Amino acid sequence: MPIQTQIGLMSHEELTSEHESQSAKYSQLQAQKLVLDLTRGKPSPEQLDLSAALLALPGDGDFRDGSGTDCRNYGGLTGLPELRAIFGELLGIPVANLLAGNNASLEIMHDNVVFSLLHGTPDSAQPWAREEKIKFLCPAPGYDRHFAITESLGIEMIAIPMNHDGPDVAKIAELVATDPQVKGMWVVPVYANPTGAVYSKEIVSELASMPAAAPDFRLYWDNAYAVHPLFGEIAPSYDVLTMAAEAGHPNRPLVFASTSKITFAGAGVSFFGASAENLAWYQKYLGKKSIGPDKINQLRHLRFFGDADGVRAHMEKHRELLAPKFELVLKILEDRLGASKVASWTEPKGGYFISLDVVDGTAKRVIELAKNAGIALTAAGSAFPYSTDPDDRNIRLAPSFPSLGDLEVAMDGVATCVLLAATESRLT
Ligand code: PLP
Repeated sequence: MPIQTQIGLMSHEELTSEHESQSAKYSQLQAQKLVLDLTRGKPSPEQLDLSAALLALPGDGDFRDGSGTDCRNYGGLTGLPELRAIFGELLGIPVANLLAGNNASLEIMHDNVVFSLLHGTPDSAQPWAREEKIKFLCPAPGYDRHFAITESLGIEMIAIPMNHDGPDVAKIAELVATDPQVKGMWVVPVYANPTGAVYSKEIVSELASMPAAAPDFRLYWDNAYAVHPLFGEIAPSYDVLTMAAEAGHPNRPLVFASTSKITFAGAGVSFFGASAENLAWYQKYLGKKSIGPDKINQLRHLRFFGDADGVRAHMEKHRELLAPKFELVLKILEDRLGASKVASWTEPKGGYFISLDVVDGTAKRVIELAKNAGIALTAAGSAFPYSTDPDDRNIRLAPSFPSLGDLEVAMDGVATCVLLAATESRLT
């Protein structure tokens, strides 16, 4: 039964009775001895099955790409041109400005930060590591693994509030224009992790063109969810490389993407798009750690998709599996929490996550209650720099992996935990 009265408006008596009723529900939940996991945005086994044909590709005797390269051998640091053309079309990046790599785009992001620290970028006066301090802007809530890269490398992170159309760009413009220690910013421009926000064209254009105190300021433009719509038309991927070049900052954007949420999360192909100067710089150092990427895997992906429409058609199949899961989570949130006004949540049009905000000061408690009922949620604060949510209110929900049945049980349980934590916090 949904709560009919807003918890904030309840009398002490009503609140006590609501607390008792949610406590009873929670005891029933614990009695079920659940083992459910909503922590990471992993594709489900059914989604992985959509790419099962990859396991038999490129097939016996097929090892040359269209230019005649023997993909079994060393070399080809830039990756197969035909596969780069497919993803260049989808990402809006010319083939010449796009590299194809191994399975993880995170590795390319990490390499870019490390190479900048060790060697400096083409626009740096000296390696970043020699600077007194380096800072990155971090729209939050954001992607925990981005923040883990910068934290592990000793880069100071500045949280920037996130809105539905992108981060607080006025705040960013001020920091970037006045502080030469601000060398980078993490961006997920389309269906952001975890809010689902899509950056507006105005915000993209402003980020690409804003004056920067640091000549080597970089946008870490992680377009991980470019082709991952769930509802309605696909959101546009704006051509940030051209926008920045036209504004006189050709080296500012570093664009990343991968097929991790398209084919196999552990065995896909990653992509890196940037200016010719940035790509030459990156390959100079990449060439020291590798003689070339796994071109057989790239060839397998090329054969599997054929062209950009092949990718679009494949993503429709993902949408069919994922959209009902998101609809279910949103329905349970509305049914169980809508009337009580103890939570708000994003309604993403694509991507992999829903961002849930509970009563301030109760996110940790909700996660603890869920854990004690056998429902694993992402650790509190993980979507914030230094894993610290200043309001202790945000919880990232990842609906992709569990079955619909498990998801229903888990989300109903989460709603009980949210309500119980809310009544507890009002009573103390
Ligand atoms: N970028 C974002 C925004 C993500 O959400 C994820 C995975 O959840 C990744 C990158 C991981 O990418 P990859 O598997 O290519 O390293």
